Amino acid sequence: MSSTREVLEVDVLFVGAGPASLVGALSLQKQLAANGMDNISIAIIEKGREVHSHALSGAVFIPRAIRELYPDFDTICNIPKAEVTKDSVYFLTEKAKLKFPITPPPLQNHGSYVLSLQNLVAWLGQKVEEAGINLFPSFPAAELLYENDHVVGVRTRDQGIDKDGKEKANYQPGVDIRAKVTVLGEGPRGTLAKTLIEKKGLQNGRSPQVYAIGVKEVWEAPHNRAGEVMHTMGFPLDTRTMGGGFLYFMPDNLVSIGLIVGLDYLDPFLDPHHEFQRLKAHPLIREILQHGKMVSYGAKTIPEAGLYAMPQMYSDGCLLIGDTAGFQNVMKLKGIHLAMKSGMLAAETIVNAFKKNDFSATTLHEYESRFKTSWAHEEMRQGRNFHQAWEHGLIPALFNAGLQFLTGGWGFKERKHFAAGHTRLRKIADHYGEPKRDEKYSSLVFDRHLTVDKVTDVFNAYNLHDENQPVHLLIADYDICNNRCTVEYGNPCRHFCPANVYEMVHEASGKSQLHLNPSNCVHCKTCDIMDPYQIITWVPPEGGSGPNYRNL
Ligand code: SF4
Repeated sequence: MSSTREVLEVDVLFVGAGPASLVGALSLQKQLAANGMDNISIAIIEKGREVHSHALSGAVFIPRAIRELYPDFDTICNIPKAEVTKDSVYFLTEKAKLKFPITPPPLQNHGSYVLSLQNLVAWLGQKVEEAGINLFPSFPAAELLYENDHVVGVRTRDQGIDKDGKEKANYQPGVDIRAKVTVLGEGPRGTLAKTLIEKKGLQNGRSPQVYAIGVKEVWEAPHNRAGEVMHTMGFPLDTRTMGGGFLYFMPDNLVSIGLIVGLDYLDPFLDPHHEFQRLKAHPLIREILQHGKMVSYGAKTIPEAGLYAMPQMYSDGCLLIGDTAGFQNVMKLKGIHLAMKSGMLAAETIVNAFKKNDFSATTLHEYESRFKTSWAHEEMRQGRNFHQAWEHGLIPALFNAGLQFLTGGWGFKERKHFAAGHTRLRKIADHYGEPKRDEKYSSLVFDRHLTVDKVTDVFNAYNLHDENQPVHLLIADYDICNNRCTVEYGNPCRHFCPANVYEMVHEASGKSQLHLNPSNCVHCKTCDIMDPYQIITWVPPEGGSGPNYRNL
């Protein structure tokens, strides 16, 4: 029962409705109107069920970019938001805490807002609709369309295919959306961006991107501390692992708590979700949460390697924005404002492309020049070596970070080289000095209130996945998983996935085989990034699948 493939024509297509695309589209429309070019059509497609379903961040939001678009943002944006009133940083050991006497300048947040990115994205989504920009949720882009090696749009994913690849009664082939400029704002490790970067060599001569995973929950707590921001270092992570915890106090007695772990850790048994549970059990955090109730859970990856790991951000017919292009101030743990600015810079570039009627790289490369002369570049330059400073662990990193702050990001070297995160993961025998059983978390007990297992947490991500659809995690070679990886790394996918998608199931034959639970997936892309053999490819499931985050 095949149907004909529909073709839609737009002038500019944004892929992914994060802050970069939404602000980019709004800025573009405003600039087009100012130039008398109202006839140019803009569309945004988003894989989530609603525009904000997959939006997740800390979040402490710097309103610098949005105020350029909406100078009255602070008054017109009516979502719950609290101005930061207090910052603190703690160093934790397993039972104790040490408060920093002074909050390091990069972690001072006065002038920013504590808010939920979801609410902000929902608000921006309304603005987009009010502006008459076409916004299509539940539309996952599956592949880029090319003509003569020039990107000319995307093909969305087919709907109504069963788990064996057969067409169901509701089968609809994906739509070809053709555009003069396609802007990829897919978030970290974008599916289309990954293929484009590879095909066009956009990472050549640049450092590899290194990511972190952020695992977070939102709690209702019986106290109102809206506007307080806390960061933690040390426990539960060992001193060789990059990362730390955060607690952001939102309005309405909501507390955002999370742990960030660099996806260049060494220990193959490390489990970011379990480390997060250990963080919540620390006396400092327990006291805050113990009379509260967890209401929401989610995880996402963050591009952390900074300026020198950004790919070439343009190609014929295409631009990369936001997390997809690596816009992130790692030193300040902030990316939303930079993502927005990237969308605005892309918009300026696109306006000029329409003026010249040239959508090739010859014109679109202006996007990088605009970035280089913007405050976003200057901000990222300050933190250009920050993640790399963690290569030798926490103590050298603290020293190096201080030096970088004093030297405008230089530290010991203008440009510090580093390897892709998955290449640092050690084999069990190398890390522990001998073959070892996986017992790292055998003493971890989930009390089902303060600490919970992954399946319970996923329940609070409000996931929706039709089980009868093709698996969206493509494993290139199960033999490697079931044999070589079991011996060498102990199947670390079971640990780095924060949603219990990967399990080793013991079979009657006496062997364990990899089993997937794709409907648990919260679309964080960690498996695509951290798999030591790089044989996992995440592709979008049917439109509307995945988490339906709340207040994240
Ligand atoms: Fe994240 Fe991959 Fe697990 Fe999905 S399967 S939640 S993308 S690690």
